Amino acid sequence: MAQAHNLDCEAAAVGCRFIIQSEDEAEAIELAKRHMRDVHGKDCSDEELRSEHLRIV
Ligand SMILES: [Zn+2]
Repeated sequence: MAQAHNLDCEAAAVGCRFIIQSEDEAEAIELAKRHMRDVHGKDCSDEELRSEHLRIV
C-alpha cells in the first residue's frame, strides 16, 4: 500500500483549511511551498515543511 504525504495547513496557519495529500513527497512539498508563498506570503524551506508540517499517513 502506498504511503501518502499529508500536510494540513491548519497546523501552520490558524483558520486555513488547505490540505495537501500526495503519494509523492517532493510534489507535496512543492505544493505546500507554493501555497505558503501565494496564500500566506511565507517562504518555507523544504526542510521546514518536511520536518514540521508533513505527516506520512
Ligand atoms: Zn494555508
